[in-house]
Amino acid sequence: MSNYKKRNLKNNQICEMIIYYLKENNNFVKKQSLIRSLIKWASLSTIYRGISRLEKKGLTVACDVDNDKYIAYIGSRPNKSLNLAFFVCDVCKQKFWLKLNDCALDKISRKIKKFYDFDSKFVLYEFRGVCRSCLLSKKSNSLNLKKEEINHENSSYANR
Ligand SMILES: [Zn+2]
Repeated sequence: MSNYKKRNLKNNQICEMIIYYLKENNNFVKKQSLIRSLIKWASLSTIYRGISRLEKKGLTVACDVDNDKYIAYIGSRPNKSLNLAFFVCDVCKQKFWLKLNDCALDKISRKIKKFYDFDSKFVLYEFRGVCRSCLLSKKSNSLNLKKEEINHENSSYANR
């Protein structure tokens, strides 16, 4: 009985720690980073148990983006959904995300609630394309190419 109580307490503690970590990191973290930061305090199975407990309670949501697992904390927003835009660069594979605070998106959630009786807690927009630094390097590459072409033209002109 006392063992059972101890384990119960541990589970509550791990849940609190997970929520604390999520809140500290803008309510959205890579599962791997969460585990890495908590592994010194608890065993892997305790951490996993905590993660699934929070999920079952509806406090967190798990999602996958480009083969990585993420956890979002949604417990702090009773009447609002967490809207995230995730950008994945197909060139350098860099990923970054930002929180969207656009009332137009809340409107979509409200319409979904109205038409489908579905209460959205977490909305993920996944955008794939080319990131800014890849766009810039592409541009400078094409500029270099143009320069080379010009140089080539010049040299062939000079050779004539
Ligand atoms: Zn890129």
